[in-house]
Amino acid sequence: MSVTNSYAGDGSYPTSYYAASRNVIRTPVKLQGRVETDICVVGAGYTGLATAIHLAEKGYKVAVIEGAQVGWGASGRNGGQIVNGLNASLSTIQRRFGEDAARFIGGLVQEGGRILRRIVSHYRIDCDLKSGNIYAAYTDAHMKELEAKQVLWRKYGMDDHLMLDRDALRKLVNSEAYCGGMLDITGGHMHPLNLVLGEARAFESLGGSIYEMSPVTRVDYKAARPTVYTKAGEVSARIVVLCGNAYLGEAVPELVSRVMPVSTQMITTAPLGEELADMLIPSDMCVEDVRYILDYFRLSADKRMVFGGGTVYGGSDPADVVAKLRPNLEKVFPRLKGVKIDYAWSGNFALSFTRVPQMGRIGANTYFAHGYSGHGVTGSHLFGRTLAEAIDGDQSRFDMFEKLPWYPFPGGRMFRAQYSTIGSWWYSFKDAVGW
Ligand SMILES: Cc1cc2nc3c(=O)[nH]c(=O)nc-3n(C[C@H](O)[C@H](O)[C@H](O)COP(=O)(O)OP(=O)(O)OC[C@H]3O[C@@H](n4cnc5c(N)ncnc54)[C@H](O)[C@@H]3O)c2cc1C
Repeated sequence: MSVTNSYAGDGSYPTSYYAASRNVIRTPVKLQGRVETDICVVGAGYTGLATAIHLAEKGYKVAVIEGAQVGWGASGRNGGQIVNGLNASLSTIQRRFGEDAARFIGGLVQEGGRILRRIVSHYRIDCDLKSGNIYAAYTDAHMKELEAKQVLWRKYGMDDHLMLDRDALRKLVNSEAYCGGMLDITGGHMHPLNLVLGEARAFESLGGSIYEMSPVTRVDYKAARPTVYTKAGEVSARIVVLCGNAYLGEAVPELVSRVMPVSTQMITTAPLGEELADMLIPSDMCVEDVRYILDYFRLSADKRMVFGGGTVYGGSDPADVVAKLRPNLEKVFPRLKGVKIDYAWSGNFALSFTRVPQMGRIGANTYFAHGYSGHGVTGSHLFGRTLAEAIDGDQSRFDMFEKLPWYPFPGGRMFRAQYSTIGSWWYSFKDAVGW
């Protein structure tokens, strides 16, 4: 097993389908010497670039520092599923944090998707954007869970969910594996690396600077004017925003215990051809099931099956991603037995103990946001806008998030991955026996 949360090698993209089909090839500029700016953002994923775009649109001078290349982290490797909401369900949020927090979060969980679509359309980003996501249920207990979710979302003003019985689901996703599901027409999917590369270009069109292949080794956040250091340079800014998520690691020791890196894996088949692809997912929507350790899949624009699943706590790569995911793919679609797999890769997301993402501050002028717990495509865009609002003087929504309590993982840095693995066995067992 090799650990991926470092900048080993030259910071090249993993050998993913996304890297092979990206429509922007950048020439990275490294940070050299000293730069002075209004705002310095660390990390060129969705969180960093959404923050940077919103600030640049307001007229701020912003520099983004990326350790590898734009979208090298989760934002350029993910399932491409635009799923509304945070990983933690609204019922969990209500139970853990109270009615006010649930009402606040319930009121904004669709905003991230709207921000993403606004950026795509305003800056004309070519990322194969499609509508609709489906939650698929294996058991009656899963269906009940989805029905409860629909009721709760309605309570907070979202009425876009449609329950699907077995036959209705089969018309959208042609798999015998499921007994039903729920459709969210305001969800969707896209090519994640082309989205983040398009966002980088949008930010640069607003006058922003991006330095790549420049890992930040240290952040002096105690000074009134914080400074970010790399091997060859430094950026002094009025405000620093840390958006390194699962890959930030030890560069900012103060944030390490807040989230744990967890890897999840993806495979992409060879092109299936129009006929077979349309037969398997006639709706061309994306699908995720509702188990604790879930499968998520969709068709690419060139009609490949893009299929993800599995988790490894601690963030290491399994030795053989195809061997791990092929059985799951063939269980959902027996027609794909033995299909050629063209690409396989792994990536890390940041898990928070409560599964609610966090934003806050270390030092008066250094902000951070992370911990979308595997559902971050929309959340990262929402957090980017919220951070930009806060930096621009409206702290109201930032304060609500900053106030939410967070908890370190049991077991500390040494044993948290083992503890979490044991916990997930329990949930996987419950999924397997249908509890
Ligand atoms: C395989 C996979 C599948 C997923 N599928 C989905 C999905 O289908 N739908 C969904 O909603 N979510 C999904 N997620 C989660 C989602 O991709 C993330 O929540 C989201 O992309 C997080 O964005 P981010 O910008 O916060 O972090 P990242 O995209 O990880 O960006 C962080 C960036 O910071 C840089 N960085 C870190 N440390 C430093 C440093 N010291 N110096 C300089 N730069 C640094 C990294 O190189 C990286 O580019 C998935 C995640 C993975 C890994």
